[in-house]
Amino acid sequence: MPVFSSPAILLRRMDYGDFDVIITLFTLQRGKLTLIAKAAKKSTKRFAGILELFSLLELVVGTGRGKGMPVLQEAVLKNPFSAIRADFKKTAYASYWAELIYNWMEENFKQEALYYLFEHVLTELDKGQIEKAALSILFQMRFLALSGHRPNLTACSLCRKELDNIKQASIMLDLQRGGILCGNCSSSSASRLTLARGTIKQLLWVASGNLAKATRIKFSSPALEESTHFLEEFVSYHLGKAPRSLKFLRQVRD
Ligand SMILES: [Zn+2]
Repeated sequence: MPVFSSPAILLRRMDYGDFDVIITLFTLQRGKLTLIAKAAKKSTKRFAGILELFSLLELVVGTGRGKGMPVLQEAVLKNPFSAIRADFKKTAYASYWAELIYNWMEENFKQEALYYLFEHVLTELDKGQIEKAALSILFQMRFLALSGHRPNLTACSLCRKELDNIKQASIMLDLQRGGILCGNCSSSSASRLTLARGTIKQLLWVASGNLAKATRIKFSSPALEESTHFLEEFVSYHLGKAPRSLKFLRQVRD
């Protein structure tokens, strides 16, 4: 890997030996990347205080010796997102999003749209003007689509009847089948998940088009609640396990 530079967001850090730190970042240029930051633990000058969770950095990365881990050569702090780390509820949301990226994304696989999505939700979470639960819905809907797990909300997952032709006000969702079921097909499912038709329309809206516009959508509190429940169940099911940070998020949020 030749030397390169990239914006990056820190997902995870771990002390390594007496002096070094191993960090995993989500970078614009190379997707998820694990690096070693030499002497980051002892030195007060080198990377002083900037290799913190969720920090937005500009990195210069070089090759290690032989086939070793890439080495962090330089890092400049672009945005510390310090309002996130100062608030445990905000930290809980950011940790959940970071864990989805950490667990689901391959190393060294560029995903520009996902990078910009992650930077966007962290920026808004840090500013604090948008409801945290609504940001999480936006992130999860787009994350699922970008990672190839988009829930099918436009037609019955079994008979393909379109949403507009499904007459029920409350529509069933089947995790195994990956989406909604019409009234006829829902009798074959043991699912207890449902969404109101209007909520489904809102989810489809936040999943597509301009990110800034999608961020301004207003959810009613029932819509917020059922969307949150559905997405966290859907994510856990398709990830194959409940993210560890989700347990903490569920304990601390309002
Ligand atoms: Zn059907």
